[in-house]
Amino acid sequence: MKKEPILPESRDTTFRDQVLKTHVGEKIPTCMQCGICVGSCPVSHEMDYTPRQLVRMVQLGLKKEVLSSNTIWICTACFSCSVRCPRGIHPTELMETLKPIAIAEGIINKNAKFDNVFSSVIKNNGRASEFLLISRYSMTELGMIKQLPFGLAMMAKGKLPLSIDRMENTRELEAIFKLGEKSGEQKIENKDIKEKDKDKEPQETKMQENENEKVEAKK
Ligand code: SF4
Ligand code: SF4
Repeated sequence: MKKEPILPESRDTTFRDQVLKTHVGEKIPTCMQCGICVGSCPVSHEMDYTPRQLVRMVQLGLKKEVLSSNTIWICTACFSCSVRCPRGIHPTELMETLKPIAIAEGIINKNAKFDNVFSSVIKNNGRASEFLLISRYSMTELGMIKQLPFGLAMMAKGKLPLSIDRMENTRELEAIFKLGEKSGEQKIENKDIKEKDKDKEPQETKMQENENEKVEAKK
């Protein structure tokens, strides 16, 4: 994939500080770009930016590039990078920290579809069901049709059970989801308010200038 050159003006120190202040941020400045995380990652070949690059981009405050990369959504949270990083950085947790920021910023990535399907299956059943995951994801991603022969072969070998395992009581789980949704809505609301305030500022300044001109003219 051809990548655009990164320009110094793309740097956003507010975003960098926001990430560095989170529970995973403390060690991020110590990354020495050794690449052990990339060597450990089973899906780095599918990512726009490898975990090593993503950590560096956070250090530089490249907000737009970080939040719109597919890396944070492709990560399978296998934790290989986190257990092997010699500096104790946790790229896995970094991905999980960046996802809600991207959502709150209104950045939609097509790779988020699987996350949405996975969350809805867990929310409704309390447990992951391979059959539900694959069938629902296939409805949102037409390219999955190519995987049909593979899926049928798995079914024939009993590797894709049709049975759906449900938790007896999902009440506590529902409460957790509600809390998460509420916090996401709150973040989006706060962002909208900030943006409205930003729009208002130049108008208010202009109105004040006009008022001042009128007063000057009367004098
Ligand atoms: S393994 Fe750790 S120190 Fe090495 S590049 Fe990855 S995040 Fe940086
Ligand atoms: S946790 Fe994510 S980034 Fe780290 S090795 Fe696994 S898939 Fe790659």
